[in-house]
Amino acid sequence: MKDTFKHKGLRQQLVNTLKAKGISDVKVLEAIGNIPRHLFMDSGFLDHAYQDKAFPIAADQTISQPYTVAFQSELLQITPQDKVLEIGTGSGYQTAVLCELGVRVYSIERQQELFKKTSKFLPKLGYRTKKLVFGDGYKGLPDEAPFDSIIVTAGAPFVPKPLLSQLKIGGRLVIPVGDAVQIMTLFIRKDTKEFEQHEFGEFRFVPLLEDRN
Ligand code: SAH
Repeated sequence: MKDTFKHKGLRQQLVNTLKAKGISDVKVLEAIGNIPRHLFMDSGFLDHAYQDKAFPIAADQTISQPYTVAFQSELLQITPQDKVLEIGTGSGYQTAVLCELGVRVYSIERQQELFKKTSKFLPKLGYRTKKLVFGDGYKGLPDEAPFDSIIVTAGAPFVPKPLLSQLKIGGRLVIPVGDAVQIMTLFIRKDTKEFEQHEFGEFRFVPLLEDRN
């Protein structure tokens, strides 16, 4: 597991690309600048690690595009020590960004292979989460609720009700909603039953799978 000057240089170029595309949250840019993304990918893809692109990981899943990770992270408006739930741990790259932002991270993954691999890998890089869970993200994590924010990193055909109900008042849910193409959507909980909704254009994710799939 090597992180060289060459990797650091490529990472800085990636950070500049993200700035040029409109990412302005300094903490998020710093996180991307710190994380050795090449170590989250299979060795065959090392050369691609610092391009602003999604890439295949195990179990037919993808590591999200850095721009998408940065965009979603920015929408969360993180404060250090926030309690954050991620749905779709995958490679753990977004999880690592959340750790770099100083939050208490809970993350759920439904593919056992990825869950096992990433559970071992993140601590090796020094990333400590509160809890990684093998389970179904549609249900959220009722025992640990409420959360300051929830981030869904797979395309959701609809907004799962449990995720809305597991937000604190003032809490934020960032979720790509749709089938073939998703609209990045932010919900802010105003009150027990009242949510403000904002939309941020089209993104493409692998699907948030329901148990029957
Ligand atoms: N955050 C990840 C993105 C991985 S892609 C990264 O940065 O690498 C989306 C992930 O969501 C996949 O790993 C997929 O297995 C997972 N996923 C799909 N449906 C899910 C569900 N119902 N519950 C939890 N995870 C799910």
